[in-house]
Amino acid sequence: MQIRYATNLSAEQYVRQQAWHAATLNQCPLHPQGGCRFSKHGTYPRKFPEGTKIARWYCADGHMSFSLLPDCLASRLPGTLLEIEDVVAKVENSPSQEAAADVIRIDIELPGALRWMRRRIFLVKVALRILIELLPGLFADCLPSLLSFRSVLGVDYVLPQLRILAEGNLYILPPPIGFGPRPAAKNLKKSRFQHPTGTDPPLKRV
Ligand SMILES: [Zn+2]
Repeated sequence: MQIRYATNLSAEQYVRQQAWHAATLNQCPLHPQGGCRFSKHGTYPRKFPEGTKIARWYCADGHMSFSLLPDCLASRLPGTLLEIEDVVAKVENSPSQEAAADVIRIDIELPGALRWMRRRIFLVKVALRILIELLPGLFADCLPSLLSFRSVLGVDYVLPQLRILAEGNLYILPPPIGFGPRPAAKNLKKSRFQHPTGTDPPLKRV
């Protein structure tokens, strides 16, 4: 189970400061009343950024481990939230996904690059749609696009901000923002989070 490690460190600072040593989990999330065999359980490495480690705890009674994911890192995808946001934003600003793929992933063939990009776009869009429903006070006028969310929040990068704003809902939000399950692409059309057909609501300007 992933747990939010609230920190404003960048991924580079997190690695350089070995900030996983500072991560703390005072009580077992399964047994907040205590009395279980809950203890620190070392760290595990992530490949990207190089040198990253994640602090982990374990409840022997619940047979569950808990990893403290810092706000800068993507959940269930390699790398950082900023890197993923850069990819999705580039696609939003490109004439086509193919054109974006030519710039973003020159190291692999186009079909692979498109798959890699579309996985990220899909997950981010699903999360944005869910957030529009979950937090209508903030996002009712938003389109499920980074441009729209950036405009409403007034920030350069929205994904780390959304990890914070959605703290109470991280277990229903998909990765890379949330800690919930990956949505299945084939079910999206049936999802209540499908963007309604018809005229798009106006983009809110601030
Ligand atoms: Zn426990």
